[in-house]
Amino acid sequence: MSSFAPILPPASTRHADGMCCPAPGEVAFAGSGPGDPDLLTLKVLRAMQQADVILFDRLVSTEILALSGPGATLEDVGKEGFGPSMSQEEICARIVAHAKAGKKVLRLKSGDPTVFGRLDEELTACDEAGIGYRILPGITAASAAVAAIGQSLTQRGRNSSVRFLTGHDMRGFADHDWAALARPGEVAAIYMGKKSARFVQGRLLMHGAERETPVTIVENASRADQRVLETTLDHLPADLAAAGFDGPALTFLGLAPRQSIAALTDLTNTLKAELA
Ligand code: SAH
Repeated sequence: MSSFAPILPPASTRHADGMCCPAPGEVAFAGSGPGDPDLLTLKVLRAMQQADVILFDRLVSTEILALSGPGATLEDVGKEGFGPSMSQEEICARIVAHAKAGKKVLRLKSGDPTVFGRLDEELTACDEAGIGYRILPGITAASAAVAAIGQSLTQRGRNSSVRFLTGHDMRGFADHDWAALARPGEVAAIYMGKKSARFVQGRLLMHGAERETPVTIVENASRADQRVLETTLDHLPADLAAAGFDGPALTFLGLAPRQSIAALTDLTNTLKAELA
């Protein structure tokens, strides 16, 4: 089945006076994964090759955009975490306008479109305009980052649940159930967590978390410039500032890299430093 087959029945394509108008196009909301093109699903790749227009986010890598079909127009609708951005309303309006013009629209978001992607606002815009859509999942950053450190998001006897948190929301630093997160053995994947590191540390310590709780930050997970920082809750803000990460980074609370992987990372870092 085509990646663009709509799940809603197409709206009428004929005016009351019998004049024809363009059939409404369809929208696919897709996840591009964490950056490595090999982590793109075949379904998303196919959708990229069939799309008339691709509206993509800031974190969709250039290697992935290079896989777009020759007929696709690429539109950058990227949003900076704290900086200037295209408004969500404008993005929704563009999606609807392209679809109404009969285009096959691909809305390409980094990772998985259902994780911290403001997907629902865009789906509502399509619902209100009577436009059919499909959602094509992608590999979320937490999955790529945990693979990079040789760990599991859940482990029998350690944690039977895992939380995906955002470091900040529209009101500022995001509040969470800190008492639950502070318990030994808890694992959380914190998205957009760099700027909130000190806030998170303060809240967790206030709720009784151990200072030695492992914390690992994976920058640019799955990409050639991936970096891993192993630290503890106690040293998190200082070590993060010293690392100077400027790419997208995923913070794991309660996970340290598997020892063999940590040793390999140290060796790679030493070699890179010597070659630089
Ligand atoms: N929908 C995306 C998340 C978007 S929010 C997903 O499922 O992955 C953007 C945040 O995702 C970034 O601030 C960062 O915390 C995380 N992120 C995205 N790509 C990443 C990558 N390659 N490595 C580490 N973190 C990443």
